[in-house]
Amino acid sequence: MITKRKTMLLACAAAASLGLNTQAFSQAAFPDKPIALVVPFAAGGPTDVVARMIAIPMSKALGQTVLVENAAGAGGTIAAAKVARAAPNGYTIFLHHMGMSTAPALYKKLSFDPLKDFEYIGQVVDVPMTLLARKDFPAANFAELQTYIKAQGNKVSLANAGLGAVSHLCGLLFQSQMGVELNTIPYSGTGPAMNALLGGQVDLLCDQTTQTVPLIKDGRVKVYGVTSLTRLAALPNVPTLNEQGLKGFEVKVWHGMYAPKGTPAPVLEKINAALRVAMQDPMVKQRLVDLSADIPPMEKISAAGLKTHLEAEIAKWAPVIKQAGVYAD
Ligand code: ASP
Repeated sequence: MITKRKTMLLACAAAASLGLNTQAFSQAAFPDKPIALVVPFAAGGPTDVVARMIAIPMSKALGQTVLVENAAGAGGTIAAAKVARAAPNGYTIFLHHMGMSTAPALYKKLSFDPLKDFEYIGQVVDVPMTLLARKDFPAANFAELQTYIKAQGNKVSLANAGLGAVSHLCGLLFQSQMGVELNTIPYSGTGPAMNALLGGQVDLLCDQTTQTVPLIKDGRVKVYGVTSLTRLAALPNVPTLNEQGLKGFEVKVWHGMYAPKGTPAPVLEKINAALRVAMQDPMVKQRLVDLSADIPPMEKISAAGLKTHLEAEIAKWAPVIKQAGVYAD
């Protein structure tokens, strides 16, 4: 029985014998096997939620399975370095959030360069964050939370997804603006961090609405505020941290899709086309609205759109992180 793969290999051999460019031929055949979509945090967290949501329509559009592969550690920087060294053939792609733009300022020694080691496929979603406590934490609102942590200091524990993760950054900015130092506990993602919060093993967590909206609505956690400057349609009764006194406190977690540097343009175009189909999928659009995640305009779901945004965000966060005097290593 001649499988599709064998047919492709025979066709490539025939092309080679005719002196055709087999590389162009294999690009035309792309994808002829599953694609790994690397997520730099543990399963169950908000980045994983977004990846698994878009992997389904992307698989349909590409005619091959897009398989989510969780590679956690060091706030997403371990996975970024791994993808940067992967074969540039389109079979390894990467979904990461704004941690791609904060890592250069947070890590003195970084084993990849966000601006040199990747091809850009497009922006994905922008997601606000929520400041949460375990359900039985003794502060009913943000004012009581401020009083409590000013009195208790590092007796209060704050979970995050590792040094350099956006939950780490949100926590650092929160502590810096509050003038307190909490006991920070890193996890391999805010999926496991949320399990610890729900289990009462940790006090506070700042995490994206893509994971937290259902838990807030079910009353399984306490919520003190959102990190957007305006209230969220999905959580109209939750005030912003900005309106509660943390003036200008805004962390909106943008996400981008990347491939290793050198991935051929025709392959990148196919992946970008599948991403655009996914971002217009009715199920994906509705789910993202329910989770307060914004879909960027189509022109930003492009190589140029992502590269421009990444450059601007690296420039934006460097002074903020330097001023807050925070480093991950
Ligand atoms: N929310 C995590 C972070 O803090 C990412 C994740 O676990 O999805 O970066």
